[in-house]
Amino acid sequence: MSDPVLKVGTLSAARAEKVYGVNEFSVAGQPYRLPMWLINGNHDGPTLVVTAGVHAAEYASIAAALELGRSLEPHDLHGRAIVVPVLDMPAFTARSIYVCPLDGKNPNRVFPGNPNGTASEQIADWVFRNVISQATYYVDLHGGDLIEALVPFTIFFRSGNESVDKVSLELAKVFGIHFLVCSETPGSTFCAASRAGIPSILAESGGQGIWTPEHVADHTRGLNRLMRHLGMISGGKPEPLPFTLLEKFLWLRSEHTAFWYPAVAVNEKVKAGQNLGAVKDYEGRVLQNAISPGDGVVLFIVTSLAINQTDPLLAVGA
Ligand SMILES: [Zn+2]
Repeated sequence: MSDPVLKVGTLSAARAEKVYGVNEFSVAGQPYRLPMWLINGNHDGPTLVVTAGVHAAEYASIAAALELGRSLEPHDLHGRAIVVPVLDMPAFTARSIYVCPLDGKNPNRVFPGNPNGTASEQIADWVFRNVISQATYYVDLHGGDLIEALVPFTIFFRSGNESVDKVSLELAKVFGIHFLVCSETPGSTFCAASRAGIPSILAESGGQGIWTPEHVADHTRGLNRLMRHLGMISGGKPEPLPFTLLEKFLWLRSEHTAFWYPAVAVNEKVKAGQNLGAVKDYEGRVLQNAISPGDGVVLFIVTSLAINQTDPLLAVGA
């Protein structure tokens, strides 16, 4: 390890030191405050970066990141951890669904960001350059947004770099959530990091603004298993858990701004050609049927009656 001090922006943690602090930088001409923990272990090892609150109303994931930052101690840690519990603070305080209120953009579509772009692009750029690029391994925590129900799943990306992709899949398995989904989402945190050569996963548990202990535990247990697997904390290698690998992540979107009537539930098995729900107008006329493009399982469903043109309706893992 070249520099024994762990640095992010204006914050630094010496060897065997844990620091909580706020990095302040300029976004769209305004000061932007980003809270984080720097935990610099007493022993050599990899650097794990954990982010949450890229979607700031996905509370189970944020609660889990807070728990990790508060509980992880440097004395017995092999390696380093950087924990960013709420990446999009403006969205957190506004309880905003999907987007950052500063520019109306979905932050998980703009990574690795742009220093000369809009607010979300500038935030993504700062986080990517200063935080994510330091990672040996990267985990981004999510859950269903305020209007989404989901069955927990972990996403990874096949970037084409075989050695990176192999480790991303391994991390996804180790995390311990049953469904694994291979997906490319342009501009997403984990895809941008994978392309930069950093094995990465995105874990999803929670939803609809609810954060049960079980959903939070999906994330905290996953992080614990992953750090044991990487030899960062004691406890030994975690026992392998059964998983289902879904190679396709098929999203259906609304073609109308209208009313959404799902006909299936999350975790339900569906067939190609099956009608999974309908978008209707005021008088109940069907404007669009949501036809399953493949055999698979329903991973998430938008649960709000209100639906906007281009909004996701649901997704099938196939
Ligand atoms: Zn999300």
